[in-house]
Amino acid sequence: MREFKDTYRHKGLRMQLVKLLQQKGITDENVLDAIKNIPRHFFLDSAFDKIAYEDRAFPIGEDQTISQPYTVAYQTQLLQIKRSDKVLEIGTGSVYQASVLAEMGARVFTIERQKKLFELNKNFILKSKYPNIKFFYGDGFEGLPTFAPFDKIIITAAAPFIPPKLIQQLKDGGLMVIPVDEGNNQRMLRITKMADGSLQEEAFDLFSFVPMLTGRNG
Ligand code: SAH
Repeated sequence: MREFKDTYRHKGLRMQLVKLLQQKGITDENVLDAIKNIPRHFFLDSAFDKIAYEDRAFPIGEDQTISQPYTVAYQTQLLQIKRSDKVLEIGTGSVYQASVLAEMGARVFTIERQKKLFELNKNFILKSKYPNIKFFYGDGFEGLPTFAPFDKIIITAAAPFIPPKLIQQLKDGGLMVIPVDEGNNQRMLRITKMADGSLQEEAFDLFSFVPMLTGRNG
């Protein structure tokens, strides 16, 4: 059985990571605090223990990745998370992004299409710490109509287009942060659903995500 320890060395490395994220332009103190508090090395194979706090993505099995901390911080900052926001996440992966949202006090509904990753997440190490994360196995293009509407929606895979069903499941005044394909990369977009149902779109930087795929796998 693997022993999970969060040592002073790990905490020190997290402080350095937070400084780096600040230098890269992350200013939301709540986002920075969440990253400071969450032991990212718990989300990775023990082989990555020494490098878990480098600002890079890592493989987590099933050809998937845990997003780069900068990307997690960037998307979370754009979401303007408030305590008790109801948030839908597409692409649970390692549960790191969901944990950042949960640490900030959001109620998180997260969907994963890979059965194996979904099953692994049943034993998610910080499950009792974050009862505010609810796990679903399904196709993110469909969203979670029974739990809609959501204050915020975050997509953590490369979307070929803005999924119309997810727009339907967004509250009036709600925000969606989504990386949409542009050439070989994705443009980070923030969509605001206005009170009259119209959409306002803001464009940010380019990123590189694994693809958002249709249907369930497993
Ligand atoms: N948020 C994750 C990043 C995961 S990478 C983290 O913090 O670690 C993207 C994830 O999206 C992968 O696990 C992939 O299987 C999942 N995914 C891709 N298309 C999907 C879809 N249509 N519905 C749900 N999950 C999807």
